[in-house]
Amino acid sequence: MQIEVRQLSKQFGGFQAADNVSFSVQQGQLIGFLGPSGGGKTTILRMLAGLEEPTSGHILFDGQRVNNLPPQERNLGFVFQNYALFRHMNVFDNIAFGLNVQKKKKAEIQARVHELIALTGLTGLEKRLPHQLSGGQRQRVAFARALAPSPGLLLLDEPFAAIDAKVRKELRSWLRETINKLGITTIFVTHDQEEAVEVADEIMIISQGRLEQKGAPIDIYKNPQTPFVAGFIGESSEIPDAHQLRGFEQLASGSKAVIRPEFVEVGNKSELSHPSASQEGVVRNLFFRGTSWQVEVEVGAFKLIAYRSLEKPPLNPGASVHVLIHRVYAFDGIRTTAVE
Ligand code: ATP
Repeated sequence: MQIEVRQLSKQFGGFQAADNVSFSVQQGQLIGFLGPSGGGKTTILRMLAGLEEPTSGHILFDGQRVNNLPPQERNLGFVFQNYALFRHMNVFDNIAFGLNVQKKKKAEIQARVHELIALTGLTGLEKRLPHQLSGGQRQRVAFARALAPSPGLLLLDEPFAAIDAKVRKELRSWLRETINKLGITTIFVTHDQEEAVEVADEIMIISQGRLEQKGAPIDIYKNPQTPFVAGFIGESSEIPDAHQLRGFEQLASGSKAVIRPEFVEVGNKSELSHPSASQEGVVRNLFFRGTSWQVEVEVGAFKLIAYRSLEKPPLNPGASVHVLIHRVYAFDGIRTTAVE
């Protein structure tokens, strides 16, 4: 299914939960809504589902306006974080639910449910009740149930939030594979950056009801277009005035900027790739990150985060060091651009 959303807004009382949001999703795309808590992700998803009425704007599925259609007539399936399985129905009956509602023939239901049980790796568990399943298994039943009527769109609201970290990782790659195999248009909500980046073809960053940026994870990471996105994606330090940094004097005075640790070298002057372009700083903190040292360093009035190879000796808090900044993401009041 192809999705088109135009100038979609939602107000709760005087509160703007979704603010003039427009985007499109191509058939078969896997989209992640990512953003801070309360940003409006769930509200937008619920409007797509037909569970929340937009205050204004248009929602089109395959070119047809669906604003006035109830959820059951929108040809979509959804999965929420709290499983919401029918507690007194076994796995088979839970998955068959939507097909029974559609009054499909018994043989057809049998075949479809078995197909989904195989697809979701639930073979052998058909007779179990929800409380006899693990969290990950329950969530796969919820997926199978949503997929059973072959919807054109799958909406997932924090589908893995209630599941422990290890199973969650497995489910992510399972979801990606399954969705790719089925070719079904899918939108999922998460506030977990890693999850969005790992699973989605494209991410939409949503904050304060607004769509900040939409794009492939790598493009959003490399070219954040607003200060919010630059600060939200990846590790970063915020700089109120990048003009004051050595090598970036060409930026206008007062330019807000974000600096990512992977673009900062820190160490003794002689260790740096261009010692002459470096500036002095003082180490404030040092953390072991597993794959590198994370160094907090004070440079003039600013505090930066830098990574340092584990092969180099650690730097002690209080030590004088040099830093070399390769890139800043500077905001000129319209958009953020990378400055080298
Ligand atoms: P989270 O990641 O915490 O789920 P979210 O990005 O999905 O957050 P929403 O659940 O869409 O955010 O909420 C957006 C804002 O709208 C919040 O400030 C929330 O309190 C408000 N809101 C949501 N539903 C209602 C409602 N029915 N009545 C009033 N305010 C609401």
